[in-house]
Amino acid sequence: MRLSIRKGDLVEVISGDDKGRQGKVIEVDARKGRVKIEGINMVKRHERASGARKPGGIIDKPAFMDRSNVMLVCPRCSKPSRVHLERRGDRRVRVCKSCGGEVGS
Ligand SMILES: [Zn+2]
Repeated sequence: MRLSIRKGDLVEVISGDDKGRQGKVIEVDARKGRVKIEGINMVKRHERASGARKPGGIIDKPAFMDRSNVMLVCPRCSKPSRVHLERRGDRRVRVCKSCGGEVGS
């Protein structure tokens, strides 16, 4: 499964508790079509202490969410947009459907 969202992209959440919030994609699970976004969909994890450098306790971590719950924020027109993959010469680029601009490969 090829996703139109990449690590490092800015996305906006379009459904659920975090609707309307934006964040940076920190992990993509292309196989399952899920993404992890900085500061969004936080869950509490109980971590066991493992040595002095990693104290245990409860910490907040972003959890994976379905790719369909987020939309890429176009760096050109700053709108949450649909993108489609397009072949231009021997390159494959992502094109914003709102402004028609390239949003990176
Ligand atoms: Zn755009």
